[in-house]
Amino acid sequence: MIHIYGKNKESFCKELTKDLGKGEIYAKKLYQAWMNQGRLLAEEEVEPQARKLLKELISRTDFSLPVVEMPMNQDQTYKYLLRLHDQLAVEFVVIPMQAGATLCISSQVGCLKGCRFCSTGTMGLIRNLETYEIVAQVYHAIHTLKNKIRNIVFMGMGEPFDNFDNVMQAISILTDPHGLALGKRHISVSTSGVVDKIYRFADEADEAINLAVSVNAPNDEIRTKIMPVNRKWNMASLKEAMQYYLKSPKREILAEYVLLAGVNDQDEHAHLLCDYLENLRVKINVIPYNSGVNSRFTTSSQERIDRFMQILRSRNFCTLLRQTKGEKIMAACGQLVK
Ligand code: SF4
Repeated sequence: MIHIYGKNKESFCKELTKDLGKGEIYAKKLYQAWMNQGRLLAEEEVEPQARKLLKELISRTDFSLPVVEMPMNQDQTYKYLLRLHDQLAVEFVVIPMQAGATLCISSQVGCLKGCRFCSTGTMGLIRNLETYEIVAQVYHAIHTLKNKIRNIVFMGMGEPFDNFDNVMQAISILTDPHGLALGKRHISVSTSGVVDKIYRFADEADEAINLAVSVNAPNDEIRTKIMPVNRKWNMASLKEAMQYYLKSPKREILAEYVLLAGVNDQDEHAHLLCDYLENLRVKINVIPYNSGVNSRFTTSSQERIDRFMQILRSRNFCTLLRQTKGEKIMAACGQLVK
């Protein structure tokens, strides 16, 4: 059986018809109907003499999906649980936006990186998601749950670059124009700063795929305290990797900065952050901290958030404030935990 969610159209068709030696054209139609339109190709859609072959192709295809459970919602933000074959689970979140929803998906069950402000980080790494399990979240969101998805962000559970090959394969499936057909420009991968994979991503990813880097601190001292990954790759090596990625003039990085009251949200931190990001083509995304389970941090006051933003803007950085959505259902940034 060939799992349809783990392949783009080309590899699906090749594998499905390998030992039959025929039927690629029907395999293509089958893939397109299922992945693009969310329906099974009907017998009547192929010539009478090809119907037996179509049945054979269908019988060789695994259409089964991990089950979606437990929708929770707040302000139209929906959090779903995807129950995997081994009974583990990950979460994905559908966030409404003006021009179509953003879907935040997971790449691992748990995460090894242990960022101190993140609920997923308390789980440790349980396992990587298979490619089809990553794609299944998107398939469900679009075809089962009938959302109009515009943006996909790898910002759910897990460090995507610790599951690099499966994430890259999933991106090629999500953007296959004959399948789910998502726009490359509308896909973003967020890393905590896995430097060796930033180099690989720079070399291997299509230029249109976006990169977000969780910077979160103005210096190594603070970053090491809140992000253990900084012990392995400090801010200087992270900056070099970002410079390498930005060698292509078409690229830009989203530098994410979770504001933690009294930890990294002071005026001098804002100035140091600007010094660090100087000469990099970045937009800064300031994210007010969301309390998770066993929170050890608190949210900065509105006044502090405004002041922090004001300094970044006065230093000529394009700065966005992430609107917190779904924090009551633990669906906001850094709150996904199972
Ligand atoms: S913020 Fe991301 S990388 Fe850090 S622990 Fe959470 S899921 Fe892992």
